[in-house]
Amino acid sequence: MIDNGRRNLLRGAATLAVAAPVLATGGVALADPPRKGREPENLTDLQTEIKTYKSSGAWDTQIAAVADEALTYLKHRLRHGVRKPAVVFDIDDTALSTYDEETGTSTITGSGFGYYGPLWNYWAYEVKEFPAIAANLELAKYALGAGVDVFYVTGRRESTATSLNPSTFATTKVTIRTETIADLNAKGYTVADDAHLYLRPTGDTNASVVPYKSGARASIEAKGYDIVLNIGDQRSDLDGGHADRAFKVPNPMYKISWSGVAEAPGPGASATSSRTTSAKPGTSGWSVPCAQASATRSGSASVSGTQARSGRA
Ligand SMILES: [Mg+2]
Repeated sequence: MIDNGRRNLLRGAATLAVAAPVLATGGVALADPPRKGREPENLTDLQTEIKTYKSSGAWDTQIAAVADEALTYLKHRLRHGVRKPAVVFDIDDTALSTYDEETGTSTITGSGFGYYGPLWNYWAYEVKEFPAIAANLELAKYALGAGVDVFYVTGRRESTATSLNPSTFATTKVTIRTETIADLNAKGYTVADDAHLYLRPTGDTNASVVPYKSGARASIEAKGYDIVLNIGDQRSDLDGGHADRAFKVPNPMYKISWSGVAEAPGPGASATSSRTTSAKPGTSGWSVPCAQASATRSGSASVSGTQARSGRA
């Protein structure tokens, strides 16, 4: 049972967590430069910290706080009437958790917080061992039940992929679209049809995923939808506008760079960020009042950079 004081603290933390990355400007080096004589954080200690973050329930609690804020906003908007409402979900570490692949389980080898495409593909497309993130699943179910169209915009590619069984070393060719739809449906997310799943085109070689993701949202809007909320675990899921509000859930495991520069340290939901930045025109803003929401849906991607690991996003 959470008392009101703790609940308010939780909500405050979630608001800070979401506002900071959404309002940050692109192209600005946010990470603190190395100080002379300062040793970087120990990698093993950081991995242990992430595991504790997961096992303690703190990670899930922070995700739930973000999802709760998003749900509150969605309900508020629906009460006031939205023509053709839609919500957009990222998939990896937003709809589904890849934590078990990062760390491994007793039966399947993990990547040790690294990334090896064929092994990741095995988890994602063959054994499909990425569980649904409960709070975000509930948000998706509520949206669907309320007549809202749910779209998935993912960095997974519109292509086939090679899956490697780490026990037998057997490889399998999988079709990413087919397996992704089957998996989302099996986990409780409903993919209405092919048009509700955006996969990154094979030929998209842009260093940043932002133009593709914001372009997908623009495509949804061009069909007459009002994207009430957009939720993801990376800034690159949220930058570029074309959503009334953007919500970022925490993910300390890896970073999909959106601009090729260092980002603010710590997990997305870190409530300890003291960095203050101003909103960038065209960027979805957490602080946009409902009455002005529709006026903000005109952003265009304006950042570029590198995406070190293209398998997940
Ligand atoms: Mg993701």
